[in-house]
Amino acid sequence: MTDTLDDLSTRLSGCRLCADRFAATATRHAPRPVVWFDRGARLLIAGQAPGLKVHERGRPFDDPSGTRLRDWLGLSEAQFWDRSRIAIVPMAFCFPGYDANGADLPPPPLCRATWHDALFEALGEIRLRVYVGGYAHRYHLGAKTGVTETVRGWRDHLPDAIPLPHPSWRNTAWLKRNPWFADELLPVLRARVREAME
Ligand code: SF4
Repeated sequence: MTDTLDDLSTRLSGCRLCADRFAATATRHAPRPVVWFDRGARLLIAGQAPGLKVHERGRPFDDPSGTRLRDWLGLSEAQFWDRSRIAIVPMAFCFPGYDANGADLPPPPLCRATWHDALFEALGEIRLRVYVGGYAHRYHLGAKTGVTETVRGWRDHLPDAIPLPHPSWRNTAWLKRNPWFADELLPVLRARVREAME
């Protein structure tokens, strides 16, 4: 039997599978799944995992990365956070924590293994899939190259999908080194987003 999105949302919100794992990180936090999808979503944003700010605020991309991502997509905050139009499905729904050096830990693979198949089956018709960052590129696109080469090959995935780098401030230098991203990819991305949202 296929789970409904409502069932999945309820079960996912209560998921604590990684409690021991997160308790052993430098941040010693508890799981807080950031669940963001609903019936009718036309656009999928498949990212990496919530950061600390999103973990505290409970809303995906409610941070400077999100501000940049909304600019890339050409969406207002109200449009972006309308979960009946846009589903936001990361590789892990909880903040993975920091290691002892303060570096981001990777999204736990257990999360996608537990949730993704049922969720993507229940999501239904998605008109445009936007894959954000290397973890999403490898999982959803089977990418074998690094982020730059995967994003440089963005035309190979049109019209249904577009890979993006992570919009983190850490990638500001990358954006400067790769002006084709703003000049060529972003206008097409914004046009495809508008079409998908109609
Ligand atoms: S990361 Fe995923 S599997 Fe782990 S506790 Fe959060 S929702 Fe559950």
